Amino acid sequence: MVPSGSAGKGRVLSGMRPTGRLHIGHFFGALQNWVRLQDEYECFYFVADWHALTTDYADSSQVAANCIEIATDWLACGLDPARCTMFVQSWVPEHAELHLLLSMVTPLGWLERVPTYKEQLENIRDKDLHTYGFLGYPLLQTADIVMYGVPGRALFVPVGEDQVPHVEMSREVVRRFNISFAPYEEELRQLSLEARVSRLANEGKSVPQTLVEPDVLLTRTPRIPGTDGRKMSKSYNNAISLTEDDDPIRAKTRVMMTDPARKRRADPGNPDVCPVFDWHNLFSSAETLAWARDGCRTAAIGCIECKAAMADNLIRWIAPVRERRKEYEAQPARVRQILEEGASRARAAAGQTMARVRAAVIPQAASRLHAPQG
Ligand code: SF4
Repeated sequence: MVPSGSAGKGRVLSGMRPTGRLHIGHFFGALQNWVRLQDEYECFYFVADWHALTTDYADSSQVAANCIEIATDWLACGLDPARCTMFVQSWVPEHAELHLLLSMVTPLGWLERVPTYKEQLENIRDKDLHTYGFLGYPLLQTADIVMYGVPGRALFVPVGEDQVPHVEMSREVVRRFNISFAPYEEELRQLSLEARVSRLANEGKSVPQTLVEPDVLLTRTPRIPGTDGRKMSKSYNNAISLTEDDDPIRAKTRVMMTDPARKRRADPGNPDVCPVFDWHNLFSSAETLAWARDGCRTAAIGCIECKAAMADNLIRWIAPVRERRKEYEAQPARVRQILEEGASRARAAAGQTMARVRAAVIPQAASRLHAPQG
């Protein structure tokens, strides 16, 4: 059964690695948008536990617990299992099968040229990332996405500008897959993939859409730097978790970075370069924003009172999220059940894609697999 009202809508697919408790950067960077999309599309949101293994295979002891943690955060933030499908990637093993089949047609050079591949190989020194799994993660990502495509229906991936090349690569892989395994007559099979495409185009024919090419749903997210002005990250110790209590929020915001040029109380400041003001933008009313902006520029207010007002509003915003999280935290069996029901809905959708894929890749084998036994 699909969530009510979603049949016939375009589909959206997105996932997150289970890295532990989420912080407010995750909310404004992704979850806020996910919550909104639930009402506009048929949404599939998954915990990418196999993706976690591509970099953290040496210690998988926390992965299962982190899957429950992240799903609990999602529910606290407003994902609603009646309006979206939430599941854990490894509970839908079809993702691995499709990953394998995509790997058969993907040139090695496409994967080696992915910018984040080289960048991470150079920057991450404490792990050995010279593995096939790490090289192939963009293909696993492609399998995750295109698994939920339905011919004739739009398939979207919500991403920021920097992620657009990844989706473009998924589209190229899909095109190559569809042309490789299309049921052509002998003459066409003798041609290279590129020659097949141009021959079909000349004859006004199209390539069968066994898999659906995904589209980008460009998402603008607000700026939410960490308390030290760098990108918000748990590993930089500059984040506010979605479960943070009032006292640590006050303590962390009290020492937040401000406009570095405002050295003394009497110096006017520039709110446009101040992380505290970025946070005001998210949590404060229009009235407080005007008070902070004008007060900063004229030195009518000091940074201490400006931060305290922002912290009050942040606490007011986070309190209901924290409450809802506590409710779900007290019922881990319910969270697990939501994920199990989501996985069974996802498997039903994945099964339809894999039936098309299996029939295209090795037609006789697919018919054997589905023939009546005995
Ligand atoms: S007054 Fe507020 S906005 Fe201005 S520099 Fe200080 S903390 Fe930032």
